[in-house]
Amino acid sequence: MPLNEKLEVSDNTRLTAALPTIRKIASQGAVILMSHLGRPKNKEEKFSLKHVVPELSKLLGEDILFIDDCIGDKVKEEVNGLKNGDILLLENLRYYPEEKKGDKDFAKQLANLADVYVNDAFGTAHRAHASTTVIAQFFPNDKMFGYLIENELKNLQKVLKNHEKPFTAILGGAKVSSKITVIEKMLDKVDNLIITGGMTYTFIKAQGGKIGNSLVEDDYIETATELINKAKSKGVNLVLPVDSLNADKFAEDANTEITPADEIKDGWMGLDIGPETVKLFSKIINNSKTILWNGPAGVFEMDKFAEGTIKIAEALAEATKKGTFTLVGGGDSVAAIKKYHLEDKVSYVSTGGGAMLEFLEGKDLPGIAAIKK
Ligand code: AMP
Repeated sequence: MPLNEKLEVSDNTRLTAALPTIRKIASQGAVILMSHLGRPKNKEEKFSLKHVVPELSKLLGEDILFIDDCIGDKVKEEVNGLKNGDILLLENLRYYPEEKKGDKDFAKQLANLADVYVNDAFGTAHRAHASTTVIAQFFPNDKMFGYLIENELKNLQKVLKNHEKPFTAILGGAKVSSKITVIEKMLDKVDNLIITGGMTYTFIKAQGGKIGNSLVEDDYIETATELINKAKSKGVNLVLPVDSLNADKFAEDANTEITPADEIKDGWMGLDIGPETVKLFSKIINNSKTILWNGPAGVFEMDKFAEGTIKIAEALAEATKKGTFTLVGGGDSVAAIKKYHLEDKVSYVSTGGGAMLEFLEGKDLPGIAAIKK
């Protein structure tokens, strides 16, 4: 979770999402919380989980305990003194490189602290780390998901397997290369596949359009052509932006103009979708019964190029009101939907970025598999 300059939690979404599981366990025993914060290299203080204690205590309505290590005699002693209802937060597991390496001995030391293992960290379920995957083997009969993971799986399955049609996937963001597998998988499931964001221009170039200085992955032009052909052969309606909001530099004070998406002048770059595209996308969204959205439609971090992303978020909120199931996931789309205060107006906001994409790609997530095994 993000911290501000004063090292206070600035977005408590992931903490809030973990509360039901923590409360449930605290009602029946003592809770030992293990977690990650950032990517520490040398036990930097700014990555200490102690910064999370005030916010978590506030959310739980009671003081929680904290210890500045996660393994060793001191921790064992503290754990032995716990009473039912106590909640003890261990120090950042990533202070030990063994965590990321998935070290078995480290995982065993963590496992020895407790009787039952509950994994509720969907955001890291795609990593085979000590505390998210390796540890599960030490609890052959006492391992389980928490409510958050259970909920994530239920909602993602709803999109992937039990969706009502028409089913539309909106895939945006910067690069084709990071979304290619999910685009391919989605072609087997969806009725409409909307491509938006920076990815657009690789597709437009593949079709012979002029994209000026827009973001492009030349190595993926052939892939883009193949995807367009695949969509055709599968009868999927692959939709690209028809117009583009272009800027003469990558900055908030750039000059802008709107052109057809395939007629961007040299020296200009497409940084958002244009109004005709908003209309086109909104109509498709309005006619869908299930929608998956991952990746913004433009450089929404700058207000000047946020309009397309806002309009997609609003169209999703409208569709949800009419009974469409809408799932939003991926770091940037979640940040966007929150920025415009629409997170309660869609059906489900996934807490997983990479984990969600890998799940949608049909991969077996190691953290999930370790519990199910
Ligand atoms: P991703 O992490 O792949 O979902 O990409 C998210 C990023 O894509 C955001 O930081 C956006 O600013 C960026 N992005 C969206 N549209 C464009 C665009 N037209 N040109 C450059 N970057 C973009």
